Amino acid sequence: MDRDAILLTPGPLTTTLRTKLAMLKDWGSWDADFNAVTAGLRERLLDIVHGQETHVVVPLQGSGTFSVEAAVATLVPHNGHVLVPDNGAYCKRAAKLAQMMGRQATVLPVPEDAPISAAAVEAQLKADPSITHVILIHCETGTGVENPLAEVAAVCERHGRGLVVDAMSSFAALPIDARRVRFDALIAASGKCLEGVPGMGFVFIRRAVLDGCAGNSQSLAMDLHDQHVYMGKTGQWRFTPPTHVVAALAEAVAQFVEEGGQPARLARYTDNCRTLVDGMAKLGFKPFLAPEVQAPIIVTFHAPAHPAYDFKRFYAAAKARGFILYPGKLTQVETFRVGCIGAIGRNEMQQAVNAVADVLREMGIPNGAPAL
Ligand SMILES: *Cc1c(COP(=O)(O)O)cnc(C)c1O
Repeated sequence: MDRDAILLTPGPLTTTLRTKLAMLKDWGSWDADFNAVTAGLRERLLDIVHGQETHVVVPLQGSGTFSVEAAVATLVPHNGHVLVPDNGAYCKRAAKLAQMMGRQATVLPVPEDAPISAAAVEAQLKADPSITHVILIHCETGTGVENPLAEVAAVCERHGRGLVVDAMSSFAALPIDARRVRFDALIAASGKCLEGVPGMGFVFIRRAVLDGCAGNSQSLAMDLHDQHVYMGKTGQWRFTPPTHVVAALAEAVAQFVEEGGQPARLARYTDNCRTLVDGMAKLGFKPFLAPEVQAPIIVTFHAPAHPAYDFKRFYAAAKARGFILYPGKLTQVETFRVGCIGAIGRNEMQQAVNAVADVLREMGIPNGAPAL
């Protein structure tokens, strides 16, 4: 193999050579040249959600979860109360981080193979006027299910509650239009569908609620209001920025625009997902989700029922063929996951399917059919 393994995961992802090359330069964090890179990047990010009129975007150092934590800390007041509809692992993580910072959190359990119901969210908001914010995971990466962002946003708007959206694994692939869908905060990160490298997140904050966020955060480093004010005054990040990550993301966004923006990215990922699911079906594998609720981001497959199957061996054999798979995240059923995102296309997905076929032969498993 003379290429790096293809990362079929929810991030970090396979990136282009151009994106990797953008990291071969050292930048002074206070320097005007670097500030211009940050400023240009923020403009392009706002363009992606059509948020120039309504929102600001605040970048933050760290992995994606740092930005989720920062958004909740900054948006939800100390005496706030969040409702977290829960159909997977990332929903549970959001509820936990809200609780850990002392915000009241109510979890609305939803089956893992079903999208969140906007009607169920509405019933909960009607029943409990103390709920100030809803936290919605747009694409629940634990399974790959797409949740109904526009419908939940309409419910929150109708009932005058805030909405914080974790769009980490959907941003730049699934359509999100701030002119039509009202959200107070929406969170994404460098190393997902924009195909940058990991190391920073960013949060879109609605201008109408921004001033009211001053003083909410109990954390200094996580205070997005303060980060925004400081950036506005100086053009700089408050604390040491991940300079190489920022430069790589700016280059990745330039390629995103050249490719045709969100519609083109969605089309490529949809094609990747179809190639994967069709190819795996021929080998007997069955996806965990029904096709109509499956986002073209990451696919959860049932593990083969055959007694020779073992995820660790399956993983190692796929890795030896140049493909990095991802473990399942469900407690009740044995599964594994395969990502459809990153700087890859139909050829790589077909090669991955071929590699899985080869792995089954090596393991002596006739097909990928799950237990009934
Ligand atoms: C990737 C991801 C995150 C962030 O995970 P990190 O490991 O902190 O980068 C958060 N939410 C969702 C839905 C994700 O897919």
